[in-house]
Amino acid sequence: MAVPKLEQLSKSVVQGPSLATGAIPTRDWMDLPVVFKPGNYAYPAKKEKVEYLNSQSGIDFPNAREWSPEDEDWKLPEDWKEIIIKGLKERLEKFRSLKIFMDCCVRCGACADKCHFFLGTGDPKNMPVMRAELLRSVYRNDFTLAGKVLGKMAGGREMTVDILKEWFMYSYQCTECRRCSVFCPYGIDTAEVTMMMRELLHLVGIGINWILEPVSNSNRTGNHMGLQPHTFKDNVDFLVDDVEALTGIRPNITFNRKGAEILFITPSADVFAEPGLYTAMGYLALFEAIGLDYTWSTYASEGGNFGLFTNNESMKKLNAKMYAEAERLGVKYILGGECGHMWRVVHQYMNTMNGPADFLEKPVSPITGTVFENASSSKMVHISEFTADLIKHGKLKFDKSRNSHVKATYHDSCNTARAMGLLDEPRYILDHVVDWVEMPENTIREQTFCCGSGTGLNTDEIMELRMRSGLPRANAVKYVQEKHDVNMLSCVCAIDRATLTSLMDYWNPGVSVCGITELVANALIQEGENRPELDDGFRTLL
Ligand code: SF4
Ligand code: SF4
Repeated sequence: MAVPKLEQLSKSVVQGPSLATGAIPTRDWMDLPVVFKPGNYAYPAKKEKVEYLNSQSGIDFPNAREWSPEDEDWKLPEDWKEIIIKGLKERLEKFRSLKIFMDCCVRCGACADKCHFFLGTGDPKNMPVMRAELLRSVYRNDFTLAGKVLGKMAGGREMTVDILKEWFMYSYQCTECRRCSVFCPYGIDTAEVTMMMRELLHLVGIGINWILEPVSNSNRTGNHMGLQPHTFKDNVDFLVDDVEALTGIRPNITFNRKGAEILFITPSADVFAEPGLYTAMGYLALFEAIGLDYTWSTYASEGGNFGLFTNNESMKKLNAKMYAEAERLGVKYILGGECGHMWRVVHQYMNTMNGPADFLEKPVSPITGTVFENASSSKMVHISEFTADLIKHGKLKFDKSRNSHVKATYHDSCNTARAMGLLDEPRYILDHVVDWVEMPENTIREQTFCCGSGTGLNTDEIMELRMRSGLPRANAVKYVQEKHDVNMLSCVCAIDRATLTSLMDYWNPGVSVCGITELVANALIQEGENRPELDDGFRTLL
């Protein structure tokens, strides 16, 4: 699907008829069925991927088949409706938060204009309050007295195939970023509602390929790219060669080493694709500089948890793999790289799903002696916490002028910012290694705008939708690009590094994307180094 030219898309967002531009819908939302057409939906999961996943222990992905959202008949199981209502009942009993979110919305509208999908599409059903209402209306009909007695008059709807299709459309036009929840006076987390809708859809075989294929790969090979152990090792070895060529120092690395002090896990994209490669090279240079006793794993070769985008069982299984590997290798704790959903899962769900990880030790920096009390239960430290602590204790030397080709700004990744409160450490690091500026206040820290393509939506067939939903973030970057000549958007998330690159290429040409650790390594002074002038830092090709 071709993406409209920038001028066309900007005009459409600003002037096209939509709720965001003041056009009033002519029909009640309940009477407006969704229409699937090329470009407005992500491709469904391939039959063989669903079959494979369904054959694995601990997870269920039924009803593998060929189907298309554009088909009238979605080839659902005969008793699909009973499955959905039973699934909703079970989840209402199991997750108290879901029950509360279904009951306590007062429709104040504070969340309505806070979602980047609403801002970019103007579609009323992309207002968070409406997105939740898609599920809430069914809940009301079947699980509340008022709904049972008064039906539509009480805002209830009986479950139909059209509603199921609507759930599919709008639960995949939400990146579960939680921005709306920051503004809700009741703390309703619409991301959790979306997660439940997706989970219910999977019960009848509705899911998208860009999520289920990575889940399948992660389950099979340990990482979402499907890299086999030898390929993963080869890729890291290539990066070692590159770091040596750039700095004159060859990082000493090991794989699957029992007895190492620390297991390092990062998103596999960092060892496979640009611009994450430079971040991975940064880890290698940094760990070598401080003489860290650590190991990579070719089995826990993925930090990212695509299970988060499907259902609780997959999330739990993929998360457990990291901890099982830490236990097998006998390390003290896990150091985690720049990732978003890995950290969301570790901070919000790991402890109740797989924890506490009492077989590991409370993390202590072997270089500074700092005890990471915040990781007492998860036994997992974020690379930004680790690096900021090294800097604070004077353990790293920098030459900031090595980043003089960069004028940076910082994108708070939704998961690290809102799901784990990692706000100051990346900024503290940036202060020491590069010249940088903040984007406008209401677009950073807890209020950060999503890249627009998270939770498995960074697939090419919905590129126009992604460019629309990423517009609020791109707009804030444009502000600092024009005002401060910013040419680099830094972040601490691998999905962001991929999605923001497409977003910048479209809306803000001239702005590149990088990880924080790339900037750290650019500026790092290593003992015994032999660096030529690197005009483009670690991106300089020798
Ligand atoms: S801000 Fe909260 S209470 Fe208000 S409409 Fe949105 S979800 Fe409902
Ligand atoms: S979680 Fe994010 S994407 Fe989803 S409704 Fe809220 S603001 Fe929109």
